[in-house]
Amino acid sequence: MVAAIVCFALPLQPVRAAANLNDDVRLPSLGDSERESLSPLTERKLGEYIMRDIRRDRDYLDDAPTLDYLNNFGNQLLAARPEARGEAGYDFFFFAVRDPMLNAFALPGGFIAVHSALLIAAQSESELASVVAHEIGHVAQRHIARMLGQQKQDMLIPLAGAILAVLAARSNTDASAALLIGSQGVALQRQLNFSRDAEREADRIGLQILRDAGFETAGMVTFFGRMQSASSGYSDYLPAYLRSHPLTTERIADIEARIRDLRYRQHADNVDFQLIRARMRVLQDDTSQGWRDASDIYRAQLLQQSRTQTVAGKYGLALVAFRRSEFATALALLQDARTALRSGAPRNGGESSVLDYLGIELLLASGKATEAVSLADAARKRFPLSRGLARRYADVLLAVGRTDEALAYLRDQAQLYRTDPDVQDQLAKVYSTQGKRVLQHLALAESYALRGSLQAAMDQLRIARTAPDATFYDQALVDARERDLEVRWKEELANSKREK
Ligand SMILES: [Zn+2]
Repeated sequence: MVAAIVCFALPLQPVRAAANLNDDVRLPSLGDSERESLSPLTERKLGEYIMRDIRRDRDYLDDAPTLDYLNNFGNQLLAARPEARGEAGYDFFFFAVRDPMLNAFALPGGFIAVHSALLIAAQSESELASVVAHEIGHVAQRHIARMLGQQKQDMLIPLAGAILAVLAARSNTDASAALLIGSQGVALQRQLNFSRDAEREADRIGLQILRDAGFETAGMVTFFGRMQSASSGYSDYLPAYLRSHPLTTERIADIEARIRDLRYRQHADNVDFQLIRARMRVLQDDTSQGWRDASDIYRAQLLQQSRTQTVAGKYGLALVAFRRSEFATALALLQDARTALRSGAPRNGGESSVLDYLGIELLLASGKATEAVSLADAARKRFPLSRGLARRYADVLLAVGRTDEALAYLRDQAQLYRTDPDVQDQLAKVYSTQGKRVLQHLALAESYALRGSLQAAMDQLRIARTAPDATFYDQALVDARERDLEVRWKEELANSKREK
């Protein structure tokens, strides 16, 4: 269902011909006083409501290696412009959506999506950065917040619903989707398109970010240019990005003028970029035909006489072998990828978290749990910032029955990452194997609450209260948590009444 748009801004397909919604719609208050825009905290809350639904969508790629890569990458860009986090200082979240259209988009509050097709089409990190930095530019300049204007707290849930409907219709060429949205949706749609001024401003900020983060600023011109030539050919590529970001000669001239005076610099890409691109091919079309098509590309990569392409090709073939449950073949191919990566003088010191992820999964799947533990332990130490690898480490400890260690580790993780529902799910699993029913259901309640399902969270608390091992102390704990959640629930109930 998710979106075929950029910056939240592609015209609704079915009505595109009828109404020229494109980019001439002025922002209501661009440059006006901040009082007329959504406050950063409200904007974030709106984004969270939208993300709650997107995370449930089957095309949302809840894929740990991809999320790790995109968030490291995005934070590298943000480091060049910390003020983009706004006065609320929120954490950005970068994610991928399975979608064959070339696109990327920003939601309110610093949530930035990249389509799988765009990840595959980008040929360097600088090209990917040019699109992501442009989206960060929209957030930094508060384009979305100004566009939506001031909204009352109780309008947020209906507004989130309307934005989701627009996102859904955009990826659905079926005309009935447009009818479903109705005239109100079209009005919102119109409002959600950025003006030319806003696009130019996002280009300007995007280029600054590219430069300051050490990427090749020419990446913006080459990537846009390639998308444009793809759209003029007979290719079935759909560069939706260009439809929402019309590449006027003016815009290109602007970008070229800006990069003219910048010194050319070469950016050494992280090998994980090519690995994630290889991974995207399998995730985008996860069928046996898709695996065959991807394998042809991986084999072609092996012929390119480039170390990085060899690593990516071997990794891709290992991934396909894993999908086909050919574990021994997959492990051998992965070993080839590692050997290739370690040859020469690799920037990552010959290691890659993406290869480690696959290694852990393969070892577990082929019954080599002890080896999986050693690899997961080494990997989480090599990549201490990777939350995904930390989750895997707990998984493998549980798989080999080292329950107490897993528990101690997860409790630390829960302190470190208080808003991560996955840690709570893993804790619940450990407590369940230990027969600790109260703690199991308390952890599940936390997980549901963090995912925004308050009613399910309260159901879990009720189960916790009546668990046979509930002590007096536990019941007090459950009561206190229930009171917190009830306050939140009443607040949201009041909001959602406006939806009716
Ligand atoms: Zn834009």
